[in-house]
Amino acid sequence: MRERFWERFDLEELTDEEWEALCDGCGQCCLLKFQDEETGDLAVLNVACELLDIHSCRCSDYAHRFEKVPDCTQLTPERIDDFRWLPKSCAYRRVAEGRKLAAWHPLIAGGPERMHRKGISVRSFAVSQREVPEDELEEHIIAILPIDA
Ligand code: SF4
Ligand code: SF4
Repeated sequence: MRERFWERFDLEELTDEEWEALCDGCGQCCLLKFQDEETGDLAVLNVACELLDIHSCRCSDYAHRFEKVPDCTQLTPERIDDFRWLPKSCAYRRVAEGRKLAAWHPLIAGGPERMHRKGISVRSFAVSQREVPEDELEEHIIAILPIDA
């Protein structure tokens, strides 16, 4: 990977390897969400997709994720408008908006532990979808976000 590529190149210019490395692995995008059909606002749950490994905050079957979870979203530079629903801390959103990566980002900190310690990742609070009955999901809403927040 090119040195400090995230500061020197636009998202469209990244190699596949750089694109994957840019993900901080926080797991926030793998939390379940409900969208209000009228306002577009998002209700974010502390319940993570059934494929998320809560401890590592990584997808447990990344290669087959679209077969197993049809709602899983593939982020690409072409879908930059979709980035509005990502958390403000998300590395793709930061680069897309011309912001710097945070000091806790694994590319800068040398690994993910600092991110976990600071509570950026979902490790400390998420529960797996496998453990929550569908009729109890609404009880797990932790935030309501305007879609362009
Ligand atoms: S929110 Fe962004 S940086 Fe965090 S895991 Fe999802 S895509 Fe990666
Ligand atoms: S399938 Fe994997 S990448 Fe997609 S939302 Fe679930 S855990 Fe995240």
